[in-house]
Amino acid sequence: METTVHGYPRIGAQRELKRATEAFWAGRSTAADLEAAAAGLRRETWEALRDAGLTGIPSNTFSLYDHVLDTATMVNAVPDRFAGLDGLDAYFAMARGAEGIAPMELTKWFNTNYHYLVPELGSGTDLRLAGDKPLQEYVEARSYGIETRPVLLGPVSFLLLSKPAQPGFEPLSLLEPLLDCYTRLLVDLHTAGAGWVQLDEPVLAADRSEDELEALRRACHRLGSLATRPALLISTYFGEIGDALAVLADSPVEAIGLDFVAGPGNREALARVGGIGDKTLVAGVVDGRNVWRTDLVGALSMCASLLGLAGRLCVSTSCSLLHVPLDLRAETSLAPELAGRLAFARQKADEVVTLGRALTEGRDAISAQLASGQVPQPTVDAEVRARLDALGDGPPRNAYAVREAAQANGLPVLPTTTIGSFPQTGAIRKARAYLRAGRMAASDYEAVMHAEIDRVISLQEGIGLDVLVHGEPERNDMVQYFAEHLDGFAATASGWVQSYGTRYVRPPILHGDVSRPEPITVGWARYAQSRTSRPVKGMLTGPVTMLAWSFVRTDQPLSETARQVALAVRDEIADLEAAGIRIIQVDEPALRELLPLRRADREAYLDWAVRAFRLATSVAADATQIHTHMCYSEFGEIIGAIDALDADVTSVEAARSRMEFIEDLTAAGFGRGIGPGVWDIHSPRVPSVAEMAEALSLAVKVVEPSRLWVNPDCGLKTRGYAETEPALRNLVAAAREVRGMLAG
Ligand code: GLN
Ligand code: ZN
Repeated sequence: METTVHGYPRIGAQRELKRATEAFWAGRSTAADLEAAAAGLRRETWEALRDAGLTGIPSNTFSLYDHVLDTATMVNAVPDRFAGLDGLDAYFAMARGAEGIAPMELTKWFNTNYHYLVPELGSGTDLRLAGDKPLQEYVEARSYGIETRPVLLGPVSFLLLSKPAQPGFEPLSLLEPLLDCYTRLLVDLHTAGAGWVQLDEPVLAADRSEDELEALRRACHRLGSLATRPALLISTYFGEIGDALAVLADSPVEAIGLDFVAGPGNREALARVGGIGDKTLVAGVVDGRNVWRTDLVGALSMCASLLGLAGRLCVSTSCSLLHVPLDLRAETSLAPELAGRLAFARQKADEVVTLGRALTEGRDAISAQLASGQVPQPTVDAEVRARLDALGDGPPRNAYAVREAAQANGLPVLPTTTIGSFPQTGAIRKARAYLRAGRMAASDYEAVMHAEIDRVISLQEGIGLDVLVHGEPERNDMVQYFAEHLDGFAATASGWVQSYGTRYVRPPILHGDVSRPEPITVGWARYAQSRTSRPVKGMLTGPVTMLAWSFVRTDQPLSETARQVALAVRDEIADLEAAGIRIIQVDEPALRELLPLRRADREAYLDWAVRAFRLATSVAADATQIHTHMCYSEFGEIIGAIDALDADVTSVEAARSRMEFIEDLTAAGFGRGIGPGVWDIHSPRVPSVAEMAEALSLAVKVVEPSRLWVNPDCGLKTRGYAETEPALRNLVAAAREVRGMLAG
């Protein structure tokens, strides 16, 4: 193993996995069809990596939904409520719920926009090796003549990413039975011929307690001292490894993988422990999280500086390439200057191979590639820079009490609303595609969108919602849409990246200074408001989320880029206000996502993130109600920042975590409007009136009822009308029921 990648995109160049999975869910194809599609994707991946010339090729990086769910299934960590189901039915029920069965919780994978399913471990969990997916994939690759290195989620990360099924349960207490599973698996893989196995321990990039490090020590020693086993690579990524390095260096494993992109300090750390002896260092020098071409000269000198610190060096990506699009060659309409700055997964595999050659054959062997590695500079917008300098942090809004009085808007207590998007129908998607392809005139497109807005507005009026939305039919994605209307961003044609399950996004590429050539949402919002006497909420995406879900430039601090985006949002808010929109939501679902993994780095991040949001929103008049929305995460750690955003109303994901969050929020003294989601829209299940009324009754115990809003967990664009209509009717009925209770 001299060159490798930590993992590879698994969704296919044409989103084949999505099509195959959704066809299976819809009953349009069989399990065998799905499996055949999956096998085809795995084979393509292995062959592509082999053809790139990598000497180390990973396997078991494929998943039908999520690799954490795969691991949970494999070690029999299946919550009791799924006991009646088996095979793919159980698997997909865990991911998406089933009739009367709530799915597992979905949460962000570290500081990425990938989401994993949170395993639930408790005293009743009976860990045992119940599956052999890694073995099957290893054998499958071998049948094509390709030798692979099975990749497993490491035992410590598995436990620390899990949540207790009962309060007070310590997932780490299951370490021994879990190691029994890994032991059996390693022995089986060894018997099948696997020379190497990779155990991913990304949790080591965050602060770890003594107990947690002890668990790591124990895991490495138990697995490392097996008499017959494959060689072990323990990989960590997304940051600096800190104290865990000494534990790994002292352990009997053969290789350690470190991320030198997100964790440049890892080099220092290696030097501090005096290197890792004769172990192999898998050096992640090619960025697995971003789309820029690698500075090969810089990466090469990083590698050279590592040579004396390990027995052998293997060049690698910083983390799995799951987080970048598959192949730049699919992008034919990017500006050539920009395309010349980019590398997607397939190109990154080439970069790794090139670096490997330079290390073994000498720099001259790749002088041509090195010379072509000159990357052009991003564009500068002097006007944006001057406006930001003049604005500084901008004048703050008046105190909440003043705003609250100015916003008294005749809404009932427990006002009902939605998070913005309504289901995206085939007709809407088609209109957007036709417009993009120049097959539909702008005026016809506008007519289609207006008709859709009319429909969605009257639907909401009919259901009895209090604050309406226009439904976001014109948006493919909440970040991509704005990126397409801002200068400084570029969109890709097929740069899909998995967000969760079959939900993929095409992150825009933020490549230069950002500015807003003209108003973006104002026309749609004004039209929607003209169709109803109820308030229509304007809908924008906040600066932090714009960055989190884009590929960002690395030549300037993120905080500076965030200010540029904030300025564009600020101008849009002023224009919406001028168009008569009185409620404006600035979504920041990704606020938690960018939180640095290490505590020491958090304050600085939250400081610039909050400033950017306030820079965007402080232009609003007292009477304009600013909402924000957050989802998918544990927000406990950023309560202070959520408060500091100073939004008038904050809606948050809460349905899967049963209102735990708002208790924390109230306990921390949060005193503005709050809308805990009462309908988990990530699942096709329609929640009953009773269920949502119960959630609301829990909420009114902790939140001042006059500040409580009633809404789903998130936008409805991934849902269908079949579930949206009844669920919203139930939501309105639940709000009325609890209003009645409060009045009585
Ligand atoms: N307004 C967006 C929508 O409704 C928010 C989506 C999100 O939070 N991810 O789709
Ligand atoms: Zn959301």
